[in-house]
Amino acid sequence: MFTPAEISEIQNLVVPGKKIVIITHYNPDGDAIGSSLGLKHFLKQKGVEAEVIVPNDFPKFLKWMPEAKQIIIADYKRKQAGEAIYHADVIFVLDFNASHRAGNLVGPWIEKAKAVKILIDHHQQPDDFDFVYSDVTVPATCQMVYHFIETLQEEHLVNTDVAQCLYTGIMTDTGGFRFRSTSAATHRIVANLIEKGADPATITSNTWDTNTVSRLYLLSLILGRIEVVKDGKVAILWLKRKELQEFGFQKGDTEGFVNYGLSIMGTQVSAFFMEDLYEDFIKISFRSKDQVDVNQFSRKYFHGGGHINAAGGKYYKSIEETIEDFKEKIEAEDF
Ligand code: 5GP
Ligand code: MN
Repeated sequence: MFTPAEISEIQNLVVPGKKIVIITHYNPDGDAIGSSLGLKHFLKQKGVEAEVIVPNDFPKFLKWMPEAKQIIIADYKRKQAGEAIYHADVIFVLDFNASHRAGNLVGPWIEKAKAVKILIDHHQQPDDFDFVYSDVTVPATCQMVYHFIETLQEEHLVNTDVAQCLYTGIMTDTGGFRFRSTSAATHRIVANLIEKGADPATITSNTWDTNTVSRLYLLSLILGRIEVVKDGKVAILWLKRKELQEFGFQKGDTEGFVNYGLSIMGTQVSAFFMEDLYEDFIKISFRSKDQVDVNQFSRKYFHGGGHINAAGGKYYKSIEETIEDFKEKIEAEDF
């Protein structure tokens, strides 16, 4: 958490009239959108207006969140996003650890911005920002935003909008309160959020009972050819661009596919390889159990990173070569 001195500095910086911008990472997920909007609604309760800016578009299943439609998508509104960041007095950096994770457009804007930068994030090895609240043991940035509000002693300002948004990010980043970093503190906060108006049934149904037919077709395709290697310890899933196009892929359709690999008895690692729809690279998602560190593995071989049990990366070869190289690399690892 920020020190008491930092908290009072932040209290003096984040006041009505200041230009406040909240930015989250490329390909925003539930925790990214939930923490950004949750913080925005909280600041509004303090009388402070803030703009949420995301580098690129986000899945439809997150657009039900209060004021999701007002989010500025830099890919579509370049000028507006660029100017807001340039003129900002304060930038909150949420759910990512380094400017480059905001992409080629927004990343450099953050670096050049003269604003005071405040990071709240749970990824490993954060870059240097003016104020840093980084904790890799917390399962979701949304939980950290709640801790931040507690430290400000302003829980009374958490209204239904704040509660709905923060609940969503905690739910999605813990895989529905299942992942190991889910703690008693997580559940206490979730209980508070429910008391303050978050509705679990509606949030779950808005976020997760939203399969498109294209998603289910794609899922059946990859489950039908899942490959398990290294004595059953590593599961491999993959999708080609051609297949994405054939089934009418929409953003978010493949979210969570990688988890199916880990649900197989005895697997330690699941890897999902997907040809990017527009550019020539392979997007990779890794998931692992317990002590197996896919963050290190992805940093070492696949230009990526993330968390111990959930990481991503990129590779610039064909999908066949990428999977071959992956199989080779895992032989040297002790999982
Ligand atoms: P996902 O597999 O859901 O795309 O990503 C899992 C986790 O790894 C997320 O926390 C995300 O922030 C991180 N991650 C995904 N792709 C990359 C990447 O290319 N570089 C880094 N450093 N982290 C990534
Ligand atoms: Mn997160």
